[in-house]
Amino acid sequence: MPTGIGIRGHGVHHRSATSIPDNGGADRILAFTPTSFSERRYCGDCGTPLTIHVAHQADELDIAVGSLDDPSAVAPGFHIYMSHAPDWLRPLDGLPTFDELRPATRGLPEGKTTLPG
Ligand SMILES: [Zn+2]
Repeated sequence: MPTGIGIRGHGVHHRSATSIPDNGGADRILAFTPTSFSERRYCGDCGTPLTIHVAHQADELDIAVGSLDDPSAVAPGFHIYMSHAPDWLRPLDGLPTFDELRPATRGLPEGKTTLPG
């Protein structure tokens, strides 16, 4: 599964998505909605970002790879929102980069690479 790396709204430079079993602890997960199209969930104990759910991909849930026990288990497939990255962040992994979202982002009209704020 290709996964995305981005900076917008994450506070970090990397973001990837995968699926994991639900092992409980839902009562300790908190949520906020930083944009009109997304909801972020985080650990209410330590503040670690956990998931991102976006309206244009309603049937999927992005999981913050940094929250996994083994972040190396998931490999990225591309970098998004590079126009928002600091000058010193230039990926050297050879993966495709995009100034905003990919032109073929699932759930968006073909060629659309931005979302409303
Ligand atoms: Zn925590």
